[in-house]
Amino acid sequence: MKMYYDDDVNTDALEGKTIAVIGYGSQGRAQSRNMADSGANVIVGLRENGSSWNLAKEDGMTVKTIEDASKEADIIHILLPDEIQEKVYNEQIAPYVEDGNTISFSHGYNIHFGLIKPDETVNIVMFAPKGPGSMVRRTYEEGFGIPGLVAVEQDATGDALQLALGMAKACGLTKAGVLETTFQEETETDLFGEQTVLCGGITELINAGFTTLVEAGYQPEIAYFETCHEVKLIVDLIYEKGFAGMWTDVSNTAEYGGLTRGNRIITQEAKDGMKAVLKEIQDGTFKKQWAEENATNGANLKEMRAAEGQKEIEIVGERLRKACGLQKDE
Ligand code: NDP
Ligand code: MG
Ligand code: MG
Repeated sequence: MKMYYDDDVNTDALEGKTIAVIGYGSQGRAQSRNMADSGANVIVGLRENGSSWNLAKEDGMTVKTIEDASKEADIIHILLPDEIQEKVYNEQIAPYVEDGNTISFSHGYNIHFGLIKPDETVNIVMFAPKGPGSMVRRTYEEGFGIPGLVAVEQDATGDALQLALGMAKACGLTKAGVLETTFQEETETDLFGEQTVLCGGITELINAGFTTLVEAGYQPEIAYFETCHEVKLIVDLIYEKGFAGMWTDVSNTAEYGGLTRGNRIITQEAKDGMKAVLKEIQDGTFKKQWAEENATNGANLKEMRAAEGQKEIEIVGERLRKACGLQKDE
């Protein structure tokens, strides 16, 4: 394992370089403001009719069209939604990329799956915060940072790693620590994590617990507290102190019950499902399916979103969160 901290990074490589951050959403806004506040020469590339344009101007950023920003920059850091990067790159960025430039990302998806194919004469790097943009910005303002990853796919100039680390440092990530990885490892593990454990796994687990209690005749509000609300408290303990810290903090009854019953829920069948999902990521099945979905403007995704909102846990949960002051009325 190779971990980089502030002192390991020499920012000389970034000296005199212009960084164009393309996109000003969750990551784009946080990363470009952090890098600019750290003294880097940052411009933001956006479409003129989008809502980010005014926001970036109001934040005091230098805003240009994606084409102009790409033309002017030495480093083009692409922070658009992954599913539109290929099209925007080919049409609005690639024509302006020069030898010795650096193409940079916060997720390896488009490079690893071969959707974006820069020339051999440019660097291809990634630095990725392990958290949402709001946290990237908040921790920076507090004088710290969140951990991140760094990877080099193509080193045309000989200092690609230093450039990526320089940007990671300017974002505050090397204060917490930046781990070296590859585009392949980052892409495959990131997709696996969000599909099986983080986003897909946890919502299915919570909903299965919730509906089991409700179907057995318990009050939905009580079921919500026991199977959903308290997840955060447990995950916070694991985040800070590991499984052991969590087991220590809960009651002995919870510890005994959890250790004797958890593996009856997440069984070999669940693990086999995980293996199958991983294989679909590795062999390109997931990439293909997601591309087909985008080709139909996300028709299935829209349907699934609507169905998700109709789930009892969502309706009960919203009512309860508002009643307890955890969620404000919009
Ligand atoms: P967002 O969805 O927040 O990006 C929105 C930005 O993209 C806006 O500025 C929007 O501009 C612009 N945009 C959207 N569509 C277009 C288009 N067709 N043409 C031009 N601009 C467009 O992205 P994220 O910040 O979530 O993700 C960016 C990258 O960071 C991805 O690679 C992602 O995987 C990675 N990442 C994200 C994390 C996260 O927590 N979100 C964590 C780690 C990595 P407009 O206002 O004009 O629509
Ligand atoms: Mg992800
Ligand atoms: Mg309890």
